[in-house]
Amino acid sequence: MDAATEPESAPERRAADLPQADTTLVRTAVHLETTSRVGQQLTTLVDPEDLLGQVVVMIQGGFGYRFVGAWRVTEKGDCAVLSAAAGQAGDAPGLRLPLDSGRAVTEVCRTGNEHESAGHAADPQACAELILPLRLGDKVMGALELRSDRAEVFTRDERLVLQMLAGQIAIAVRNAQLYEREQTRRHLAESLEEIGRELSSSLDLEELPGRILERLATVVPYERCSVMLQDGPALRIAAQRGFPDEGRAKDIRIEILPDDIYLQLVDTRRPLWLDDVTQVPGWRLVEWLAVNRSWLGAPLIVKDRVIGMISVTRREAAAFTADDALLASAFASQAAIALENARLYGELNRAYATLEQLDKTKSRFIEIAGHELRTPLTVIKGYTQVLQTLPVFQGDEQARTLLDGTLSGVSRLYEIVNSMLDVSKIDSRTLQVHFEPIWIGAIVMQVCANFAAAMRERNLTLITWGLEDLPRVEADGDLLLKLFSHLIVNAIKYTPDEGSITVTGTVVDENAVEIVVIDTGIGIDAAHQELIFERFYQTGEVSVHSSGKTKFKGGGPGLGLAIARGVVQAHGGRIWVESEGHDETRCPGSRFHVRLPLRQA
Ligand code: ADP
Repeated sequence: MDAATEPESAPERRAADLPQADTTLVRTAVHLETTSRVGQQLTTLVDPEDLLGQVVVMIQGGFGYRFVGAWRVTEKGDCAVLSAAAGQAGDAPGLRLPLDSGRAVTEVCRTGNEHESAGHAADPQACAELILPLRLGDKVMGALELRSDRAEVFTRDERLVLQMLAGQIAIAVRNAQLYEREQTRRHLAESLEEIGRELSSSLDLEELPGRILERLATVVPYERCSVMLQDGPALRIAAQRGFPDEGRAKDIRIEILPDDIYLQLVDTRRPLWLDDVTQVPGWRLVEWLAVNRSWLGAPLIVKDRVIGMISVTRREAAAFTADDALLASAFASQAAIALENARLYGELNRAYATLEQLDKTKSRFIEIAGHELRTPLTVIKGYTQVLQTLPVFQGDEQARTLLDGTLSGVSRLYEIVNSMLDVSKIDSRTLQVHFEPIWIGAIVMQVCANFAAAMRERNLTLITWGLEDLPRVEADGDLLLKLFSHLIVNAIKYTPDEGSITVTGTVVDENAVEIVVIDTGIGIDAAHQELIFERFYQTGEVSVHSSGKTKFKGGGPGLGLAIARGVVQAHGGRIWVESEGHDETRCPGSRFHVRLPLRQA
């Protein structure tokens, strides 16, 4: 106000003050309106960048400032970035300054203290500058930089309004960040679930690393990326995306040096990211690759061991955030599981192929040995039988005993060779089955009768039940004889003297009959109840391999049940055993069930 024209009287003075009061009032009204509009805007926007972009424009227009800039402190807390700017002669959005740059705005971000000055070094037309911290409690989230072409524009009132605005902006930015983070987390959870499902469905170790990178691109954008697996003292690329030369990329082997960043991943088991690898001393760049400045690495951890890493790069500096690291690392855990599964599956497949080969060799051996042994055995058996009839031996008691022994040994061998041939036919699916209607009860009773002497010798009681009532069954009589012989021989063999063997027959329904051979023997552990049907499988509990076929725990070649199962399956039936377990003192016994269809399809 001009002192020379100052009026004398109070009313006059008031009247003279009017235009000034009027402008102040108008200005205050505009400020209030701007503040309220900014406030409204703050509550509706959810993207922090959008939000700041609009707010600076509103403040710059509403308050008539020369320049308004909104700075944000990076997540790492080491830099301030100009997120949004409006007006003239200010810095360009995206400018990044380290917090220790010494500039007024970074000082405000670092200390949280306001700054006011009568101008700006780089902007001669600015006559006043005010920088307000955007703070929430102790945390400085950024700064609001305001410049005016008029001096002394930042009056006490105006500052109060601006401080209030800064407070509101800080809250809104925080909310927007929280919302964004929540969205990211949701997105992460959803994509990871989906990715986990997809990755775990692939068991192909060749194709999986490539799939992993393809899927990673959906959660963390990158220019180049690779799955690197540790191979002794080096890392090799198992898959890559974005490399210009696929062949050369495959050959990349990076030696792990003592101060390698990979070793930091191994140590910390956490993701790491670098804003600018060109600033990292000793960082090894591949000469034929364009320089990508941002790097992010996430360890691949399998059973607590780091087996490699996923390495992701972007062209521009400081491209990765803590959220990207979180995503990459969660992703890497899924990928590691999938890689390990695929590796195990591969190993399993190889082991399976080897076993299959061994199994074929075994079948072939049984077949050849069976055929080769049978012919000479037939000759020996025939000649021994002839010898028995010769008069020279008839009168000689000792010679007769020797011949009887030879014949019984040869017959046992003959049976074993026949069993081997049976098994080899079952293996090669060449078992001939001649179906005809037969009285199955009669066959079972005949087998029991065949072993009556052996049972008597061992003082075993035989109980049969329901066999006479069984109907006729479409089956191969010779094979059924073999089947039940093996079961009855086992029942005798694994039951101590004085025990009992019960054989029952029932009609299950209009389609099937069931014969059960029950003994009071040593029983079978649950762990063996499936395996005993495999050829040559013995439980290991057979202590002595005595030659007697029906001696207690006499042992045998381990073929009986394999043949029994082969015969039952050839009839479209089912065989299984029930037993409470193996116990040679308590003798819980075993029950072998054979269920056969009445008719063949
Ligand atoms: P083998 O009797 O020649 O050893 P098998 O194939 O007939 O071969 O039987 C396989 C294994 O199953 C036997 O070694 C034995 O351990 C077990 N086993 C079979 N039948 C019985 C049974 N009735 N009681 C207890 N164990 C049995």
